[in-house]
Parts: sequence; C-alpha cells; structure tokens
Amino acid sequence: MSLLTQAPKGTQDLLPKDSFRWQVVEEVLRNEAASYGFGEIRTPVFEHTELFQRSVGETTDVVQKEMYTFLDKGNRSITLRPEGTAGAVRALLEHALYNDGLPVKTYYLTSCYRYENTQKGRLREFHQFGAEVFGAAAPSADAELIALAHDIFERLGIENLSLELNSIGCPECRATYHTALKEYFAGHKEQLCGTCLNRLDRNPMRILDCKNPKCAEIADHAPRMKDYLCDDCRQHFDSVKKYLDSAGIAYSVNPMIVRGLDYYTRTVFEFVSSDLGAQSTVCGGGRYDGLVKEMGGPQTAGLGFAIGLERLMMILEAQGIQMPPQPACEVYVASLGEAAQEKAFQLVHEMRQASIISECDICARSLKAQMKYADKIGAQFTLVLGDDELANQTAQLKHMKTGEKFAVSLGKDFLRDYVSVHSHLEETTLNVDGTFTNLDVFMNTDSEIFTEKN
Ligand code: ATP
Ligand code: MG
Repeated sequence: MSLLTQAPKGTQDLLPKDSFRWQVVEEVLRNEAASYGFGEIRTPVFEHTELFQRSVGETTDVVQKEMYTFLDKGNRSITLRPEGTAGAVRALLEHALYNDGLPVKTYYLTSCYRYENTQKGRLREFHQFGAEVFGAAAPSADAELIALAHDIFERLGIENLSLELNSIGCPECRATYHTALKEYFAGHKEQLCGTCLNRLDRNPMRILDCKNPKCAEIADHAPRMKDYLCDDCRQHFDSVKKYLDSAGIAYSVNPMIVRGLDYYTRTVFEFVSSDLGAQSTVCGGGRYDGLVKEMGGPQTAGLGFAIGLERLMMILEAQGIQMPPQPACEVYVASLGEAAQEKAFQLVHEMRQASIISECDICARSLKAQMKYADKIGAQFTLVLGDDELANQTAQLKHMKTGEKFAVSLGKDFLRDYVSVHSHLEETTLNVDGTFTNLDVFMNTDSEIFTEKN
C-alpha cells in the first residue's frame, strides 16, 4: 500500500462526479432545517478531550474505544469530534446562547471521526447532519424534532423507513430500572458476551442493544423501562406519541432502543432502514435534559438527533431516487488562432458574469480537440471563432442536439442575441430531455424530481 496514493483506512474522497448529489441533499437538509426555524452552528473539528469524555460519557463505546485523541505541541489533549452535540453544547455555554431567548434551535452539517472497525456504512471519517434544541422541555419539542427528521426523509422521497421510539426515563426512575436490569442480567452472566459483562455494572441498558444473538435472546426477556417510568416520564412519553399521531407520523415503540450515548433522558428514537444492511440506523436522537447542567451550565432542557450522511446517500441510491445532474456547460466557445482565442476568452468572461455556464479552451488545443471536449462535457451550444468570424463580428451559435444554427453578434449585442436564441429554444426543444439548466430549478425542493424513481 502506498501512503502517498491511498487515503487512510475508513476515509473516502468525494469526487466531482458525485459531489453534486451531496450538494443537492445538503440543500434539502438546510432548507428543511430553516423552515423549522433552526440556524446553522459551526464548531471546531477538534475540542478538548475532556469535553467528549464528560458529555458523551465515559462508559460509551465512543469514549472508550473510538476517539481520535492526541497531544498537540502544547501538550494539550485534543480530540477530533466524534459527534456534533458536545461542540454545540460547549458553544451554547461559551456564548451564553441561552440568554438570547429560548428555545435555541441549531443544526450542523459536519465531518465526524471515530476509530471504528470499518465496514459498509461504518467509516472513520463520516458526516452528520444534526439538529439540537435547547431550553424546550415540553413534549411538543420532542415531536417537532422528530417531525423535522421525518420531513427530511419524506422530502428526499425515501420510503420504507421505520421510526422506532422509546422512553428511557429520567435519572430517578431509570435508577430503579438499572437495579432491576442488573439483577436480571446477573442471573445470566455466563451467557453474556465479554462486552456486555463489562456493561453490566456501568451501563446495563446497553446490553439491550447488543448485536450478539445470545445477548439479544437474553435481553428479549429483560425487564422493560415502560414498567418503571415515573408518572411524569410516562405522561411525557404519551404526549409525544399523541403529537406524532396528530401529525400523521407513524412510529413503533421499541423497548430495545437505548442509544449509545450516556446523556439521553426520556425520549429516544431511531430511523431504521432495511436498505442499509447491518448498519441499519440512519438517524438517532433523543432528549438530554441533564447534559447542559452536567457541563457546568444552568439547568436547560436539550434534545437532538443526527443523520449519518453516508448512510443517507446509500438509501437514496438503493431506492433508485433520481437526483438532478450537475448543470452542464451551456456554451462552449471554440477558437482557431490567437486573436479568436482572446475573443473567446472575453465572451466566456462576459457570459459567466451573467451566470451562463460557459467554457473556452485553456489547453491550447486544436479546433478538433476542442470540439471533442465540448462534446464530452455535453455543451448545449458551441460557437466557433476564426478569422472570418472576427472580421464579420458575427458567428454561428450551434445547438448541438438539433444541429440548428443561429447567427449571433460578437459585439455588444452578443449577450442579448444569445439570450434570445436560448429563450426561443427553451420554449421548443431545450427541456425535452428533462435536463436542468438553471440552479434555481433543482434547488427548489418543492420540485417533484425527488420523488421520481428509476
Ligand atoms: P451505530 O449503532 O451504527 O454505531 P451510533 O449509535 O454510534 O451508531 P450515533 O452516535 O447516534 O451512532 O450517530 C448518529 C448517526 O451517525 C448514526 O445513526 C449513523 O447514521 C451515523 N454514524 C455513526 N457512526 C458512523 C460511522 N462510523 N460511519 C458512518 N456513519 C456513522
Ligand atoms: Mg457507533
């Protein structure tokens, strides 16, 4: 393996041919978050290690096994963010955002880093879209947050996702539950896997979502949190479900959903897809009412979710959901000779200033090679400039699909002529193949393109 020509294990490049699809999805995420009143937060890619230890929790897989932690040159322990919530909470405290009026609603689109066993849907550098709400304790907040995730998937045209919901109670009722769980699992100690044996004392709820078949079988008969919820937690959970019912958002209650991070309280949820294989969770989230205080801030309710973008893209692909292609070059201006080349450069510059996607030769290639390139990039029009065209100050704009030609001025009327040809064709032929020539067309997420299937 060459260190110079292979990216580190668990990372991947996003190439120009694929990045446009990501941009379209990211635009949908941003628009949806904005329509729910969320503002973007950008926090550093690295933070003090203590932040994650405290907020994600010492007993979690993330802190115990998965963090990218190193000493910087000033001997500080630094960690690449394994998730987005900790940084958002740190920023909330650092800038006292809770003083600006509650709730604070933020979202992020970031890379995350976890030293994991890589497999399909499990990377070491991956990306999350996350949303966090601070200062909203009511059940309607849980429902609103879940509705945001739900609407994102719906907007993208994704089908067959199941929303699995649970309540893991508050620290008070969960303490009783933990005792019951420990007692139960202690009776099956010999059959638990090594990891679950470790969890038994520190975080017995995690045994409930162990993937080991033997552990899962034992967990199946374990006591259920719902039988231990205090009145407040039970009412809260019932109310969340009512709000979801009223919005027509389907869910199933799954007592095995416990989430991996320590800071969750009450509502926890996952969106699960059968199109993902073993890594079936595309979105996980829940309420974390104790976290802000735990981090040294005032008692402030909190809740959030994160969607794994690589897994989201995998679902879109598996379900054959069509994405608009990157808009192709509209006009390729080919040239023969130095004077024509200069003119081509000037015309292309003029078109670009008018937001018309256009190109000219920058490789000093032959006319034939230029035309081949124009074909390769799918230019809708070509304009060939030579001595004659310069002398006459006119050239033929050729519509590549139909072969039709239109005379356009090379002088000050060039843009006007081009626009008039373009709008004439737009009414007739340009859009027949369904290509999108204008960013506004596909960035308008109301468009039906997201629900079309192969
Ligand atoms: P898992 O059970 O798959 O390990 P998790 O509980 O560790 O997930 P969270 O911390 O809740 O995951 O992260 C939220 C989402 O981020 C996940 O549902 C998933 O879509 C995505 N995600 C988490 N870890 C990875 C990873 N290593 N590679 C790709 N996506 C990931
Ligand atoms: Mg994980």
